[in-house]
Amino acid sequence: MSEGASKKEEKPRKLQVVRGTRDLLPPETALWNRVEQTAHSVFTTYGFGEIRLPIFEQSELFARSIGTETDVVSKEMYSWVEGWEDANFAIFREWSIKRDPESAKVLGLMSPLRASKPREKRDLGSLSQNTTMTLDGVETIARFRYRVELTDVFELQNAGMAYQQQGRAMPQLLLVTVPSTIPDGMESIAAKANVRLEKIHIDDFEPPQLLALRPEATASVCRAYLEHGMQQLPQPVKLYYMGPMFRRERPQKGRYRQFYQIGAEVLGGSDAPAIDAEVVEMVMAFFDKLELQGVQLDINSIGCRECRPKYVDLLRAELLKVKDKLGPDSQRRIETNPLRVLDSKVKEEQPVIEKLPRIADHLCEACAAHYSAVKRQLEMRGVIYRENWRLVRGLDYYMRTTFEITAKGLGSQNAVCGGGRYDGLVELLGGPPTKGIGFAIGEDRLILSLQESGKAPAQQGRDVYIAWMGERAHATAIRAAKDLRKAGFSVELPPLELKFGKALGQADKLGAKYALILGDNEVSEGLWTLKTLADGSQAKLPEPALIEHLRKSKLVSS
Ligand code: AMP
Repeated sequence: MSEGASKKEEKPRKLQVVRGTRDLLPPETALWNRVEQTAHSVFTTYGFGEIRLPIFEQSELFARSIGTETDVVSKEMYSWVEGWEDANFAIFREWSIKRDPESAKVLGLMSPLRASKPREKRDLGSLSQNTTMTLDGVETIARFRYRVELTDVFELQNAGMAYQQQGRAMPQLLLVTVPSTIPDGMESIAAKANVRLEKIHIDDFEPPQLLALRPEATASVCRAYLEHGMQQLPQPVKLYYMGPMFRRERPQKGRYRQFYQIGAEVLGGSDAPAIDAEVVEMVMAFFDKLELQGVQLDINSIGCRECRPKYVDLLRAELLKVKDKLGPDSQRRIETNPLRVLDSKVKEEQPVIEKLPRIADHLCEACAAHYSAVKRQLEMRGVIYRENWRLVRGLDYYMRTTFEITAKGLGSQNAVCGGGRYDGLVELLGGPPTKGIGFAIGEDRLILSLQESGKAPAQQGRDVYIAWMGERAHATAIRAAKDLRKAGFSVELPPLELKFGKALGQADKLGAKYALILGDNEVSEGLWTLKTLADGSQAKLPEPALIEHLRKSKLVSS
């Protein structure tokens, strides 16, 4: 086959968006913008300031805050290691220089510039594999590792045995690393396998970083609060954010791997019930402004470190009594996280769950008082709520107020907002005792609900389509477009000359309200033709009067 023919057959593979992610296109993005603008304006009226956070952070931030036991962290986080090869290389470089400065110089390892250029590193072979060399006349298989693992020891041992099987002498086996990363017991395992473990110290060593795409933003807000010393600001500090989050969940309607949240957090010294109520009032005001339909607010109190563990013990004991009536998931959760049983949607379990003890009857005095005060505060603010004793959170640092908001048109994934109090999270990240409450709205679902209930704005057509013909008219059209746009009108100016009939057809397709007709006559007379596309009426206007005329008609129509 000729080269040409084979090239022809090799059609480039069609690239598509990754499953669980999606493109947001106009006109839908106009709705996203409206939602986000409304959030900016409503949250600002409540004294919240916007925080813009990185999309990725150190994995540990999420592991520590959300907990390694949760699905979000254990299964659903997109994480990766950065600088692994760099760290291994740094160990190789340091070791080479210490051992044999002359050879290191020849290899170019002494020059920091050369050593820091990734391409040069690759020239030396990948250090992820075994490196063979002759050291003091002895054949040696070496590995340079930031973090020594059992597999390194075994793979070196296997490589040595492969030498022996070829009838060669057993080579020296060498594993070079930094002392701080050697796991307990590794030295004796290496010794038994005849692997020499050499430790070297490196000044200013940059360890690799385990990074992750954020699955949520509360932890990042708390990190930023500490990192920027926001404890020094007048308390509480009120922040809101919006942007994409990433979870490797099974995609379905209303559940994506890249989804968007709009959220807010209040951090500071007080957990006054009025703070909780104001946060809930703000979300409700936001939804109200968007005219979200079928909004249902559920609230609950899940107690504190004092009273919740006692309730959980009681719940577990009661669940054990009815274990046979529960499905496998719930049975497993009796041990791991009994509160999650209350989340169960399994039909057969419902009558059993309804008879279980309720946390509201087991709150300590302080939590009970806090919960009543929150409810009273909500009533004072005219916020309609439903108490839902089965609304719980799995994580230890969540406490007292929890809430969830559902909306119409979302099927089984109908929660648009989840929130609650999480005193203790800032301490978990190494900060001082700090009270916190916040919420996260699922923007994708919010948009879906607005669309389902017909609250999405119709596609915005252009205000003016300029149909021009002739060189002179083109120059005038360019100037007219610029002036009209400056005055705030949306203008379509075709780049090429079109016959009037075709131009008017396009204007129609683009939903333009007016066609401004500019031909030679119009330009020489200084009287422009403005055609109202809805009724076909035409008016001749002198240039200065045009913008005024349009402005007036826009005021009338909007
Ligand atoms: P969470 O951070 O899990 O409390 O979720 C808060 C809100 O974010 C939920 O009520 C949903 O509306 C939304 N949400 C969570 N996960 C997803 C997802 N995978 N896709 C779309 N929306 C989500």
